[in-house]
Amino acid sequence: MNLFSKTSLIIIALLTSLCGISTGVAEEGAKVANQILIRNVSIWDGTSDESVTGQSVLIEGNLIKSIGDNLPTGTTTTVIDGHGRLLMPGIIDAHTHLALPVSPNELRTEDQSYLAALSMQAAEKVLMHGWTTVRDMGGPSQGLARAIDEGIAVGPRVYPSAMFISQTSGHGDFRSLNDPHPNMGGPADIIGQRYTLIADGPAEVKRAVREALRQGATAIKVMAGGGISSQYDPIDTTQYSVEELRAAVEAAAQWNTFVAVHAYTDAAVRNALEAGVRVIEHGHLLSEDTLKLLKKKDAYLSSQSFGFVRRYIKPGASGRAGKAAQVMEGTDNLMLTALKLDIPVAFGTDSFGSMRAYESAVHEFGYRLRWFTSLEILKQATSHNARLLALTGPRNPYQDGPLGVIQVGAYADLLVVAGNPLEDIKVLEDYENNIQLIMKDGVIYKNTLE
Ligand SMILES: [Zn+2]
Repeated sequence: MNLFSKTSLIIIALLTSLCGISTGVAEEGAKVANQILIRNVSIWDGTSDESVTGQSVLIEGNLIKSIGDNLPTGTTTTVIDGHGRLLMPGIIDAHTHLALPVSPNELRTEDQSYLAALSMQAAEKVLMHGWTTVRDMGGPSQGLARAIDEGIAVGPRVYPSAMFISQTSGHGDFRSLNDPHPNMGGPADIIGQRYTLIADGPAEVKRAVREALRQGATAIKVMAGGGISSQYDPIDTTQYSVEELRAAVEAAAQWNTFVAVHAYTDAAVRNALEAGVRVIEHGHLLSEDTLKLLKKKDAYLSSQSFGFVRRYIKPGASGRAGKAAQVMEGTDNLMLTALKLDIPVAFGTDSFGSMRAYESAVHEFGYRLRWFTSLEILKQATSHNARLLALTGPRNPYQDGPLGVIQVGAYADLLVVAGNPLEDIKVLEDYENNIQLIMKDGVIYKNTLE
């Protein structure tokens, strides 16, 4: 510090004490972080059954500093009147694919910088829905995550899993029948390099896991059974042996993180649970016995309503539409059995393939009313999803405080909402009108409260 600035500070301190003005610089000799006070709100904290009226929330920097009914306002504080509306945690999507804004085939043919631009558009759209964090379940979203964190792009927090790991002929093997095999002397095309690592046998699986971790995966996504969007693997197929899945789990554990698998069937999920997989993605065709095993193993169920698929299903359809119908048949049973066994279902949408998929993701709220109350869905989409994200341990990119809750020390990721989503979750579907303030990391991205 040079003499001039030291003298300036003394003059400022003198002036402020004489005039009775309090500034952070004069009081502490250090920079006071930006403070925002949101007053006159009801708070739903992400875990309770009810909201509390007449509250204020003070945000300092990117964290919630205090919560109370009569918080003082400092002169450096920006004050926002919440007009008695509901303040709640930002929404978390437990299963999306921001780096797959087009169909798997188009990933091969479209220019990579164009795809990156689409992903940025999708990310901004998602944040403006009030979704402040996403768990990205496959596809190269790690560069997008970095751009968002650095303020280059606008979007939610992203937990990338980088490349899918798939066996030959598995759900992530998107080659045409004429494409050579990348591990049998053929070249890997862009999908083989950036989107899916084809790996067979424990040694290749370990190498693939390590490659995805090196690229920035916070957790690993493995395809353990047949899927809808892939062309050559029927839904009933079990992909990977227990031994191969165990290799993936071991390699992930060495990086202090875990494996999540794509799987619909009992056989695929039982293999995964035996191998130590922590999260089952989808699970639509699971029996009660397998769900009991999942609960016993303390594994997570990350499923989706696939409500948007219902409209496209025609009886007797073949190909991918037929596979979708097969999966959809199990959805009611899965959700109702999970409810009966008290297994929380993470809130996720599996959005990918077109911009419309991200746009219509908000309807997952309404689709879930078929099985759950509004309050149950809200808990799934906030505090429960945050518990799932915390499994990433030291690979968690966001370690300053908890996500998915409104509490002192938590990240300031919050919404102010008109209407009462605790009683009618569908108010969040009309996000344009009803979500009046969106804050992520202490930064306001939307405010129509004034
Ligand atoms: Zn998915």
